[in-house]
Amino acid sequence: MIVLGGLTKEFPGGVRALDGLDLEIADGEFFALLGPSGCGKTTLLRTIAGLETPTSGNIGIGGVDVTSVPPGRRDVAMVFQDYALFPHMDVTANIAYPLRIKKVTRARREAKAAETASLLSLSDLLARRPGQLSGGQQQRVALARAVACHPKVFLFDEPLSNLDARLRLEARTFLKRLQRELAVTTVFVTHDQGEALALADRIAVMSAGRFMQVGTPSEIFRRPANTFTASFIGSTPMNLLPGVAGDGALRVAGAVLPLPAGVSDGPIVYGLRPEYTDLSLSPRDDAFTGKVAVVENLGTAHLVTLESGDHLIQAVVPEGEEPAPGTAAWAVPRPGRALVYRDDRLVSPL
Ligand code: ATP
Repeated sequence: MIVLGGLTKEFPGGVRALDGLDLEIADGEFFALLGPSGCGKTTLLRTIAGLETPTSGNIGIGGVDVTSVPPGRRDVAMVFQDYALFPHMDVTANIAYPLRIKKVTRARREAKAAETASLLSLSDLLARRPGQLSGGQQQRVALARAVACHPKVFLFDEPLSNLDARLRLEARTFLKRLQRELAVTTVFVTHDQGEALALADRIAVMSAGRFMQVGTPSEIFRRPANTFTASFIGSTPMNLLPGVAGDGALRVAGAVLPLPAGVSDGPIVYGLRPEYTDLSLSPRDDAFTGKVAVVENLGTAHLVTLESGDHLIQAVVPEGEEPAPGTAAWAVPRPGRALVYRDDRLVSPL
């Protein structure tokens, strides 16, 4: 449904916000763009919408090259972070506005607005103006306006970011259900990885205008293709430690660990999620030895930071089993859970 070929955007002053992006998004797919601030997510969304012109490369939507087609004729609907509702219009007029632009008759657009409003549980609010609505209600009006046009593609730029934590979770579930029901191809920008993992069929992890990895949430979480994705994804950052493979073992930060299949001799980076790191209070060779530096309460578990020589190693420990700061402890990798990188590419498991 959406095809990007060598898409590049340079802003005056030499900022390369998009750097040769190639991507295919399938019909009906819910696709998330995830990455740190300034990595180019919004620029990519605006370029797909036609609000930015690419410096080079092209964009296809529904089999048509739209690279030089103006935004109004691309058959996409964009929902912005600030919703961009018209303050002087009531909910009906806001939802029906794009239909008015398309010269749909008044009777038909009011019927369509009422139908869409009911889909989004807004029927009781039709006569109100945006200033008389909560953030969550405004967000639903913005979505209703996008839905009412029956576009080929939805483009969402952090539409949940203005909601408080509880409403955000509700809105997330609602958005997922709506997208499933309507089956409209959706590109969704977020810097919240929980949101991307929960909502998307596939995620593109971006950094400095490039895709670091494109994959399903479980691929991205279980097998991050490079150390950027490994350190970016996860509720606590992954432990990444330099080491060496040789003589049938991995030597990492003082520990001697089993050599995973397929790893040849030479320098490596050893990746282990804190969730897969157990703590032992008695010495062992296959563990990282150190002293407990910090203990943080995560609610149902504790995050323990171990100082091991020049390295910090974190472990998630069940409630009640957390050692006191200053205690000597050994961080034990859970079997089969380590990721091994060489030249910043995943080499095990393959
Ligand atoms: P955030 O999560 O903070 O919104 P983002 O990933 O959406 O960030 P973009 O807004 O796409 O990032 O910006 C990508 C890069 O392009 C940044 O370095 C930004 O400063 C730059 N940039 C964006 N718009 C312009 C512009 N109109 N002129 C010059 N530089 C721009």
